[in-house]
Amino acid sequence: MSAPSGLVIAIDGPSGSGKSSTSRGVATRLGLRYLDTGAMYRAMTWWMLRAGVDPTDPVAVAARVGEPLIEAGTDPLGPTIAVDGIDVVRAIRTDEVTGSVSPVSAVAEVRARLLGLQRTIIAAAPGGIVVEGRDIGSVVAPDAPVKVYLTADPSARAVRRAAEEGGSDVAATEESLLARDRIDSGRAASPLVMAEGAVHIDTTPYSLDEVIDLVVGLVKEAGA
Ligand code: C5P
Repeated sequence: MSAPSGLVIAIDGPSGSGKSSTSRGVATRLGLRYLDTGAMYRAMTWWMLRAGVDPTDPVAVAARVGEPLIEAGTDPLGPTIAVDGIDVVRAIRTDEVTGSVSPVSAVAEVRARLLGLQRTIIAAAPGGIVVEGRDIGSVVAPDAPVKVYLTADPSARAVRRAAEEGGSDVAATEESLLARDRIDSGRAASPLVMAEGAVHIDTTPYSLDEVIDLVVGLVKEAGA
């Protein structure tokens, strides 16, 4: 399948770097659609767990990868995610799913299936779309005119993520983030890397609005 041709803003980085809030903010500010590819990997993981598939068994995961119907809505003010018609917006954020999503995402067949879905969604948003994930600038949309790689200090990431999760334990959240980083960065299939041509923003010292301003500035600079 060829790369998408509309305006794509690729936002990659580890969990808790501010990707989701930034991506939604930029999409809302510029009137673009928004796709959270992490939610799609979480939806696949949710389905595997529910089907009784061992998420750490890549052969078992690969054998079932074609079964779930995964639908992602792209409104930045209310992104949706459904599996086989079931709304899983909340269900994909449980500790069980979070603890299993990285091994499922490391399976090449999972990535191939979701890559196809992601490109279809991107192609259906000709007015432009902000796409967040781990491999957007490197694999999903390598021709995106604007690529951003967001990071933040691990402790800042854990504080943000724990707050998003309604006050989870910060130390445990930091440990879980770092464990996922290790798997996401070390896997053979589309590891988390800074894509060629990406602009690195360390969000630690900035407010959300400041990071959104920086990314909107990059879009304007690119004439996109
Ligand atoms: O962004 P979020 O933390 O919800 O992503 C959950 C997991 O999905 C990541 O830890 C990673 O394993 C996987 N993922 C991925 N590629 C993407 C987006 C997410 O492998 N493009």
